[in-house]
Amino acid sequence: MKKWQELSLGLLLAIVPVTVNSTPWEAKQIPSSHPTESIGSYANGCLAGAKALPLEGEGYQVIRSQRERYYAHPDTVSFIQHLAQQTYQDLGSILLIGDLSLPQGGRFSSGHSSHQTGLDIDVWLRLAKEPLSAQELAKPKAMSVVHVKEFELNRKRWSEEHFQLVKLAAQNEQVARIFVHPVIKNQLCESEQVDSREWLRKVRPWWGHHSHIHVRLNCPIGDSSCQAQAEPPKGDGCGHELASWWPKPEDKIDVAQPVKKKKVKVPPSQCLAMLNE
Ligand SMILES: [Zn+2]
Repeated sequence: MKKWQELSLGLLLAIVPVTVNSTPWEAKQIPSSHPTESIGSYANGCLAGAKALPLEGEGYQVIRSQRERYYAHPDTVSFIQHLAQQTYQDLGSILLIGDLSLPQGGRFSSGHSSHQTGLDIDVWLRLAKEPLSAQELAKPKAMSVVHVKEFELNRKRWSEEHFQLVKLAAQNEQVARIFVHPVIKNQLCESEQVDSREWLRKVRPWWGHHSHIHVRLNCPIGDSSCQAQAEPPKGDGCGHELASWWPKPEDKIDVAQPVKKKKVKVPPSQCLAMLNE
């Protein structure tokens, strides 16, 4: 660790009150007044000049807004509004929007380690036909489309609309990746025609992600401190690569995997400066 990093981290720990189960980023209640910029990487960064996604709009509602995770890069906000309008018109569904980012990005205390730069979006697979009430929005019920233990699709719940939603999102050039459960990726692979499979490349299998999809946008043009991820491997990712996710007979998939201790990452210096403001 460099001297200045040690110094800033020390300063940070001294200044920002860190209560149990919270991160210093959760104490930031309003966006920073800096020019808008996604800084650092998806899992170690922050967001300057964030915009709040309005809690309701045409074709979408924000769930669990009490967590204050509905801030994002302005490009992300317009992406969501546009996607929701499209899915509302085409499918008649209301998208339930889960976590985006905190007012200044940075690490959440619960859930996932990404969503730090205002470019990650959780969209629930429970597609609502009627708007949810305020009570339901605060404590919504998730709907999984996978029988997780059996590693099979829940065919009663999976619908053509889910396929259309993921495809529509993946075809947008702002989108870098979409994470879905391997079983969902498999279903998408089986459903798509031979001649229009390019979008499948962006749809990546990952654990969890059976009651929501995680849409990750590219770094906005001009955000020079935003760290992009390498592009997904060439091809639709449907064959061997996907098969490697399937549990082998000797695996016990109901037993929790040992959790590896993660190293604490030092945030980019611009983010440390924001924290100390
Ligand atoms: Zn997510």
